[in-house]
Amino acid sequence: MTYDVIIIGGGPAGLTAAIYCARARLNTLIIEKSGCGGQMAITDILENYPGFTGGINGFDLAVKLEEQAKNFGAAIAYAEVFEIRDGKIKQTVTADNTYESKTIIIASGTTNKKLGIKQEEKFIGRGISFCATCDAPFHKGKDVVVVGGGDSAVQEAVYLAKFASSVTIIHRRDKLRAAKSLQEKLFSCSNISILYDTIAQEVSGSETLESLKVSNIKTGAVKELKVSGVFVFVGLLPNTLFLTNIALNESGYIITDENMKTSAAGIFACGDVRKKLLRQVVTAAGDGALAAISAQHYIEENFDAES
Ligand code: NAP
Repeated sequence: MTYDVIIIGGGPAGLTAAIYCARARLNTLIIEKSGCGGQMAITDILENYPGFTGGINGFDLAVKLEEQAKNFGAAIAYAEVFEIRDGKIKQTVTADNTYESKTIIIASGTTNKKLGIKQEEKFIGRGISFCATCDAPFHKGKDVVVVGGGDSAVQEAVYLAKFASSVTIIHRRDKLRAAKSLQEKLFSCSNISILYDTIAQEVSGSETLESLKVSNIKTGAVKELKVSGVFVFVGLLPNTLFLTNIALNESGYIITDENMKTSAAGIFACGDVRKKLLRQVVTAAGDGALAAISAQHYIEENFDAES
């Protein structure tokens, strides 16, 4: 069968696009690699998503969005997309299927960047983590490190402080990048400290991680922190490796216009995967709505006139 719209990715951008497409009676399929919700689903509390005084748990919001998209008639297939092929009818290729559609909306999001330090690969899942909500309970009463100075690092450090005995943030500069409201929360936690101008060098341990060697980039001083966990939040990488003929910027993010159109006709992009100023759930949702309306207009102009 030929779908009207295939949406690649089931995070807040993809799910919102699906809600709008399915509600417009477009035959809509979401293809999601793992579970719906994306990065949002592993966020403890979204404090700045409008309408939820006191915040909402990211996983709970993901479940609601998925249910809403399904209620309007969107279907979900669980698979990784390896390739998309352009043409009047477009193809989306997974390991087991090649799906056809009139339009494609790419909402494939981002992946956490790794540190690139010695022994990092060995200790991923054995002390190195990219998700405090998932792994904080393993470090109850222990000492942990958070690497990074952005919103994720600070938000996740505050969450970790509820479990760990101490949280040390190491940040490569002398000033945090995170929003002031998050920083205020951080400074109110008595068990969080910050090592500025400091970078991670090497992790070590036997079966699981036991220590992290760090160095001060101004003084050159090296020290070893005895910790059970290193939580890495040093930025994001766009999930665009499966794309070949779509214009990307120098960092690999998809370039779109204000209506979410990519360089390929009938292919749209929304959410964190596209070049944009602000990567948050609220902007992902807004992008998703626009991408859906653009896809709808594209179908009306290029297919409906024929029938
Ligand atoms: P980010 O804003 O890109 O911050 C990455 C942090 O890691 C920066 O402090 C950066 O240092 C540091 N860093 C980068 N490469 C490094 C390296 N190789 N070694 C050590 N440190 C390194 O990434 P993010 O915090 O994951 O946030 C991503 C997006 O999601 C942002 O748009 C953010 O606003 C959004 N977000 C929002 C919320 C919220 O609103 N509550 C929560 C989470 C994420 P420099 O500062 O020196 O560049």
